[in-house]
Amino acid sequence: MPDISMNVYQAVTLSAVLISFGIGVFVLLKNIKNSLNFVFFVFSLCISSWCFSHFITMTKQNVATSIFYEKLFFAPVSFMPAFWLLVVYNIAGKKIENDRIGLYLARSSFILSPLCFLLTLSPFFFREITPSNLPFIKTHLVPGVSYYFFLFYWYSYATYGFCKAYSFYKKSIAHKNDQLKYFLLATFIGFLGSAIYFLSVFGIKISFPHDVLTIIYLLLMAYAIVKYRLMDIRVVVTRTAIFVAVYTIVLGLPFLLINAGKDWLIIFLGTNWWLGPLILMAILATTGPFAYIYLLRNAEAILLREQRSYQETLKQAAIGIARIRNSKKLLDFIAYTITKTVRISHSAIYLFDPEFNQFILKAGRNLNEKQPISIDKKNPLIHYLEKQNEPLVYEEVKRKSEDNPDSVFTQLESEMALLNAKVVVASFLEEKLLNILILGDKLSKRPYTSEDLHNFSVFVTEAALAIDNALRYENIEEQVRQRTKELMEVQNQLVQAEKLATVGTLAGGVAHEINNPLTAILTNVQMLLAAKPIDSELDRESLELIEEATKRCRTIVQKLMTYAKKPLESARLDKVDLRKVLDITIAFISYQLEQENIKINTQIDEGGYFVSGNHNELEQVVTNLILNAKDAIKRLKKSGIIHVAISKKDETIMIEVQDEGPGIPQGILSKIFDPFFTTKDVGKGLGLGLSICHSIIAKHKGTISVESEPNQGAVFTVQLPAMKEESKVKS
Ligand code: ADP
Repeated sequence: MPDISMNVYQAVTLSAVLISFGIGVFVLLKNIKNSLNFVFFVFSLCISSWCFSHFITMTKQNVATSIFYEKLFFAPVSFMPAFWLLVVYNIAGKKIENDRIGLYLARSSFILSPLCFLLTLSPFFFREITPSNLPFIKTHLVPGVSYYFFLFYWYSYATYGFCKAYSFYKKSIAHKNDQLKYFLLATFIGFLGSAIYFLSVFGIKISFPHDVLTIIYLLLMAYAIVKYRLMDIRVVVTRTAIFVAVYTIVLGLPFLLINAGKDWLIIFLGTNWWLGPLILMAILATTGPFAYIYLLRNAEAILLREQRSYQETLKQAAIGIARIRNSKKLLDFIAYTITKTVRISHSAIYLFDPEFNQFILKAGRNLNEKQPISIDKKNPLIHYLEKQNEPLVYEEVKRKSEDNPDSVFTQLESEMALLNAKVVVASFLEEKLLNILILGDKLSKRPYTSEDLHNFSVFVTEAALAIDNALRYENIEEQVRQRTKELMEVQNQLVQAEKLATVGTLAGGVAHEINNPLTAILTNVQMLLAAKPIDSELDRESLELIEEATKRCRTIVQKLMTYAKKPLESARLDKVDLRKVLDITIAFISYQLEQENIKINTQIDEGGYFVSGNHNELEQVVTNLILNAKDAIKRLKKSGIIHVAISKKDETIMIEVQDEGPGIPQGILSKIFDPFFTTKDVGKGLGLGLSICHSIIAKHKGTISVESEPNQGAVFTVQLPAMKEESKVKS
């Protein structure tokens, strides 16, 4: 049986040789340019060599050869203190030059390391060889004089490095803090392993395969160096510790029983004593996995308590947010929930705005005023997120940027610093980047774990759906509001048109009825005035007054009849040049305007302005608008300018008449096209001008509208459909 235990120890030590060598090479290949990776590689090689020297002590070979190889492979251990110091300073990201003692020790090691190397090979290092009293070691060397010097050198460097690592750890924050914490843990385990080794040299028996500790030590250190997402190390360490603990018991207890209780077992079981440890091993091996799972579950529940407590809140929130229809409220709620439940310093949400092609800051908590309000779509951060759909952690980006200064990570680092982002999570909808969530540090100062990031990704994906729904909903609401407004306007216009049509028909009928009696009155008055000798001057004056009044009535009636005229019949359509209409009208009334100190400023763009319609009627419209403009200006001042412009856009010709008058009060804007609506003094205005314009323009399938701000004048715009090319050719 002892042979079996011997083999187990040998296997562990040989594994330590291979694993430490493998880890060193692995770390070196991970980043060959990084000095930390290089010094760690040399350090691991020394350990590998040390383990090999230890392995030789277990083999049954010629004593002289054994001593030779044992010393040879132990010799590189002399270089470990120097490299250990370099590992400490490198992992903490500090310069050894800035530490006086550190620098002194490093310089001294240039002499001490080779000196110890030679000493280990010399006869002063090991005095003699004795058979070992340990079950698994055949022989061991008895320490010589220089061995004590070596131990002093080795442990003083190790202790100084450890204390230095501890002070770096104390002063560090967040990610670095966590990294150094586990580095210290690893170192402690390593120290324990080395102590067991050195004690065994002094013949102190500790029956434990301490190279297991060496393997754990190196694995932990390699993990801390290579794995950027060190944040999960708590979980990794716990899992490993439970695994090692459970299997140490499963394998260790039977051996302990063999080593310590063999005599006792023989008393009970006689020659079958080995059945005892065998049965114990069978029982432990069966229950081991269950114990492992049980312990793991409980340990993780404690470790991940922080995440699990907010995870539930986020889950509930994700259900709740689907019902919020207002996007502003929704984004505020998301920022609030994540900041409060995860307990982080600040958060910000940027939403993509296709109009500006930018991500705009829409909501946030505890942001300072320097927080950028937008992120351009071309920003390298956006590019990266679009390609690699995974959260970005500032500490990781920073480390990658330090390793490769010219890589994309350098840009990402500065962008994230600008955004004050410790974590950036992107959310996608149908493979389109919809929004970006920015988070600050955790208030607990703990680093973000991958479970955290996973939780955030799930939450923002659900939130993205809710945000998209809310935006769509708001869009539909806006469209409905817009359509309703348009409908109301059309309805108002319809009512107005209907009113005008009714008034027109009525007026037309009435005018027709009045026209005949008026003609009779006028004819008779004129006959009376012409034919008979008039009795008195008074009678003549009366008759002339009647004639004058009747004529005025006839003018009104004729205007009313124009207003009420039926739509133009297509057969009577002429090709009208609006430029000519304007020229003639202006020439016709310019004298009158000049008398009143009013100037006309015309602006006619190049091109033809042909419409199909009635030249005289269109002249009437322009005259009316210009005379109204003149009246408006005169109400305010003695002189002024009327701007008349004609232009063409697509298939529509526009005539604009703008004045410098007092404008039209909002309250009467809707009434000015009504027949008989006037604000002018009695006798000055009939209130028919604009309503006639309206009816003429409507007959020409056009529109007339007005825009006016108080004291800014008024602009009347007539829009008429331009004549089509082919009809122009025909005519
Ligand atoms: P009238 O000119 O006989 O009053 P209109 O139908 O031409 O009749 O005009 C109706 C009313 O519209 C006017 O009395 C006036 O109050 C207003 N109006 C028309 N044009 C203007 C203008 N350019 N500036 C201010 N008010 C105007």
